[in-house]
Amino acid sequence: QHAAPSEQARAFLARAAHQHFIDGESVPAASGQTLTTIDPSTGEELARLAAGDRADVDRAVRAARRAFNGQWSTWTPYGRQALLTRIGQILDERFEELIQIEAMDMGAPVSRLRGSKPALLKMVSFFAAQAASISGETLMNGIPGDVTTMTLKAPVGVVGGIIPWNGPLNGQFWIIGAVLASGCTAVLKPSEEASLSVLRVAEILCEAGVPAGVVNVVTGRGQDAGHALAAHPDVDRIAFTGSTQTGRSIIEASTANIKKLQLELGGKSADIVCADADLGKAVPGAAMGVFANSGQICFAGTRVLVQRSIVDEFTERLLAFTDTLRIGPSLDDTANLGPVVSQAQLDKVLSYIDVGRADGAELLRGGGRLDGELAGGYFVQPTVFGGVTNDMRIAREEIFGPVLSILPFDDLDEAIAIANDSEYGLGGAVWSQSLSTALRVVHGVHTGTMWVNCYGHIDPLVGFGGTKMSGYGSKGSAAHMDTYLYTKSVYMEL
Ligand code: NAD
Repeated sequence: QHAAPSEQARAFLARAAHQHFIDGESVPAASGQTLTTIDPSTGEELARLAAGDRADVDRAVRAARRAFNGQWSTWTPYGRQALLTRIGQILDERFEELIQIEAMDMGAPVSRLRGSKPALLKMVSFFAAQAASISGETLMNGIPGDVTTMTLKAPVGVVGGIIPWNGPLNGQFWIIGAVLASGCTAVLKPSEEASLSVLRVAEILCEAGVPAGVVNVVTGRGQDAGHALAAHPDVDRIAFTGSTQTGRSIIEASTANIKKLQLELGGKSADIVCADADLGKAVPGAAMGVFANSGQICFAGTRVLVQRSIVDEFTERLLAFTDTLRIGPSLDDTANLGPVVSQAQLDKVLSYIDVGRADGAELLRGGGRLDGELAGGYFVQPTVFGGVTNDMRIAREEIFGPVLSILPFDDLDEAIAIANDSEYGLGGAVWSQSLSTALRVVHGVHTGTMWVNCYGHIDPLVGFGGTKMSGYGSKGSAAHMDTYLYTKSVYMEL
């Protein structure tokens, strides 16, 4: 049961080579170089992308700066709000086309992507509301004489957005939404593994009325185009989502002009299942907290900590649930799980499975690549390890694949200590029917986000962020706009 790509998606994918999108136009790489992007469901070439470098980034930044200083700066908050509302309507109409492009580009099944539509539309409405609620303050002061003081919020200028491959269609709107709401302009650098939905959205934004140069896209490799954007002297801010290691390189590259950064980095989240948990919810919740998107989610609850008295029952039910998951090509409507994004990611995940075995974890399910009809794609079986201890590498390092580790614990203090014994601090959950137990864990675990008896809700009104080596700067909530606005203090003798 394959969803046939729509005519528009087919026409977009059939372009011989996808170019950068700069100043409202598709332009080739200055170097003339291209790179290949692969459909991870088949292992075959899907499209060619412009291989951008410093010259392309420079051209895009100049376009973004011109747009920032131009007519865009005269748009009123109502105008920017109406623009975002129009974009939301177009995304709603074009969503099926966009998810087909995304599915073929990065491997997430269409069923999963289809379910992400409300989240995308909510995000766009959130930023439409932000556009009309940017405000400063009128402040009292102790200055002798008649001096009036206030603060204003002003757009920072050109924002560089560096985007990962694990969900670019929705993920890019954390940047685009805030850029349009604030009056900034942007140069986006999507991942070389999954750039197509970002390129298609740039064209759609243009159709919706976003002025040329306000949102530009440069494709290419991280070490070339990504590095050039992070290092560019005329880029004011970087919003980056990706691995902690890349985050560190971006911090280093961005020091020359003291860019402020918003960094959403890696995770190794703990999902704590207490003896009094409702296993009817906890089992699928914990399983999909890892297996969703084939484990390629930064806040995946990859360490499932289970109270020892229920480990056997939990494990049995978890394995039964795992056996019901259907793995298939991304356009197969019935698939729950697709492939991982690339050959490199497949190799990385399989090597971690070997490491888990070698370190003495017990392989309870999966552990290999799928063969038969799916042998050409990058499919990994949903994998469950039992008897894992927190010193094992599979419990410490981010695998970014469908690998779940069960770690038994005796009491709550031990569970909290294990959860905190990680360099990351992104997400986490507790499953318990006791409010006081749940709140003890919520207070005890050092992470940016905690879920109680659920996993993975994210609402822009509430926000989502990391602590420790998972980054800084909130996504969502009013604090999101801090990356895109600066505060100007004004003293007036009238
Ligand atoms: P990655 O760090 O390899 O790449 C992310 C982006 O950075 C890509 O566009 C890439 O081209 C670019 N890049 C790579 N090297 C660069 C450099 N030296 N300078 C500038 N840019 C560079 O990450 P990925 O493999 O695409 O995504 C997976 C990682 O992202 C995981 O670690 C995951 O946890 C993290 N992630 C975090 C969140 C979050 O919200 N915290 C969300 C999604 C993904």
